[in-house]
Amino acid sequence: MLRHWWQRLQARREDAAVARREIPADLWKRTLVRYPFLRRRSTTEAAELRRLTSLFLDRKEFSAMGGLRLTDAVVVSIAAQAVLPVLRLGLDRYDGFIGIVVHPGQVVARREVADDDGLVHAYDEVLAGEAMEGGPIMLSWQDVRAAGPMAAQGYNVVIHEFAHVLDMADGLADGVPPLPPDLCRNEWTTTLSRSFDVFVREVEAAEVAGTEPALDPYGASAEEEFFAVASEAFFVNPGMLSSAFPALYALLRRFYRQDPAQDTLWPREGR
Ligand SMILES: [Zn+2]
Repeated sequence: MLRHWWQRLQARREDAAVARREIPADLWKRTLVRYPFLRRRSTTEAAELRRLTSLFLDRKEFSAMGGLRLTDAVVVSIAAQAVLPVLRLGLDRYDGFIGIVVHPGQVVARREVADDDGLVHAYDEVLAGEAMEGGPIMLSWQDVRAAGPMAAQGYNVVIHEFAHVLDMADGLADGVPPLPPDLCRNEWTTTLSRSFDVFVREVEAAEVAGTEPALDPYGASAEEEFFAVASEAFFVNPGMLSSAFPALYALLRRFYRQDPAQDTLWPREGR
């Protein structure tokens, strides 16, 4: 009884938030043209993506750097891509952070690493995005807006950073996000590690041969990066990921409860 009351209250609050942050039809249409991987065949799921985008805009705080203007097109582009991975998992997976900082382009971050002798070496890292536990999420607008054409290569900076958010929900950025009850940790780590090892060898071979590996070679830097890179391809070029890494594709399908290659969704996770 109390549970029903609470659910009704939540539903009313969500409806009010969606109304507050309603996305104009022409802007939504332009967003789907610019990022074709957001289009859903089922009208129910297309409506759910739009509803979650409004809710995301209501719950998160955007700020801009470097003179960038936060237009509706900017925030809707980011929000719509960010909610795609949680279409079946629920927006509460993103409750661990609020802020999103958008830069006009890529950002140079000064990094320091200590070697085995304790000597500290400084270097510059160029970032298109960054996710930190508790936030904020940093994104380069130049990279976000290029997501349409970049989908052919399986690249998507927004999905990459939000895959990290899902991964870090248990406090650890280790490539193992909180898993659904029907997916055990051992199965996850075994499949991810095997695919990662294959990919590391592919990247090494591609470097020698002067060719391009199937996925972003950055994914070979660590298993958590491989999870984020594979998630990008899963949503924006699923055919490529499923033929290059079928077992990993099947694993991600069970985690995200979507099958982008078939444009079908799985039942929601039971609670
Ligand atoms: Zn990353």
